[in-house]
Amino acid sequence: MEKNQSPYYHTIGKEVEVFEQSYKNKIPFLLKGPTGTGKSRFIEFMAHKLDKKLITISCHEETSSTDLIGRYIIKGAETVWLDGPLTTAVKEGAIIYLDEIAEARPDVIVAIHSLTDHRRELFIDKLGEVVKAHPDFMLVASFNPGYQRGFKELKPSTRQRFVAVSFNYPEASIEAEIIVKETSVDSSIAKKLVNIATKIRNLTELGLTETVSTRLLVDAAKLIASGLPKRLAVQVAVVEPLSDDLEVVQALKDLSDLMI
Ligand code: ADP
Repeated sequence: MEKNQSPYYHTIGKEVEVFEQSYKNKIPFLLKGPTGTGKSRFIEFMAHKLDKKLITISCHEETSSTDLIGRYIIKGAETVWLDGPLTTAVKEGAIIYLDEIAEARPDVIVAIHSLTDHRRELFIDKLGEVVKAHPDFMLVASFNPGYQRGFKELKPSTRQRFVAVSFNYPEASIEAEIIVKETSVDSSIAKKLVNIATKIRNLTELGLTETVSTRLLVDAAKLIASGLPKRLAVQVAVVEPLSDDLEVVQALKDLSDLMI
């Protein structure tokens, strides 16, 4: 992709306007929704649209405030301070995207508190310094609510610091359009993939922890477009990633074989 070419993002609702107004008003932005529903793509698109640098951090259970703020490192005979990605974003006026923020260690939530209210400042405890955020700085986070699962929650006192927008699987015709745009697959195949996804998403009795995301459909379409037989592509890109239960996998395979 050329440097100044916009990432492809199909607007679903009012998210673009909401993001622009949040940015203007310096209100942090929270994207809620299951994995693979276009959250990261949306932020890439918005950063490009607003012509801002984007720094993305994929949070996991070991992500700590030190990882984000910075640390001393040993260089030759000296110790030197190295800004972490959050400090860099705060100083340079970038958009920082903390993907899956609820997965990070609790000290991350503490560290961002003063950045998410009127203070807009970052406290670097190891340096005893307070850094005022650049006017262009924006904090964005995503969160997978994971209803009915053991996923980590986000405390109300944290959530209430953000404007929040829900992301979900797009309507069938839009999802097919996304698949066609993202891959070079025929629209008839894209529609079939969406029908399979819709069917599987409705099979709540299977008790899948996560269901078919747009990402899985795009992956299946890519494999088909590059020559893998359709049934095999759906099996490996859609069915197998969803479950390890042999009966469930077999049932989903039978169903998708019939539909593709
Ligand atoms: P998330 O961050 O929610 O896990 P991503 O943004 O990585 O999901 O989306 C996964 C893939 O799904 C993207 O790479 C893209 O191919 C596709 N996708 C999903 N929604 C959209 C959309 N609205 N516009 C364009 N592509 C989308």
